[in-house]
Amino acid sequence: MTGPASDARLSALYQEVILDHYRRPRNRGALAEPTGSASLRNPLCGDEIEVQVAMHEGKVADVKFGGRGCSISQASASMMTELVKGRTPDEVHALGERFAEMIRGDAEAAKDQALGQARALSGVSRFPTRVRCALIAWEAMERAVKR
Ligand code: ZN
Repeated sequence: MTGPASDARLSALYQEVILDHYRRPRNRGALAEPTGSASLRNPLCGDEIEVQVAMHEGKVADVKFGGRGCSISQASASMMTELVKGRTPDEVHALGERFAEMIRGDAEAAKDQALGQARALSGVSRFPTRVRCALIAWEAMERAVKR
């Protein structure tokens, strides 16, 4: 897809995916027996994200998030939880790095299938003040799996 018309269509589709995750967050809540957790705040925007993980045999068996904030921060957390299950901490780190590259404007990363629906946040790269909103869920996740 190239050209302004398809760019606008893709942008509208991405907007819908973001709103869907914001309104119907996946994996929101708390785990009964987390093995790790981390909370992060983004004072620039007032976002708060807490991530809880349950590790089993070196992989993420389950993950939940809580918190509040703007649609980008909450949608990013929801999308992140869908991408990390079954992964090792190293894989979570690699995926988080790829996501961060996309959020900082890397066009190749924005097309990476490994990022799934999180690619809907690629447009955030055009709004530097919102970059942190998109990244805090991933940063919290990386801290949670290290503990
Ligand atoms: Zn925010």
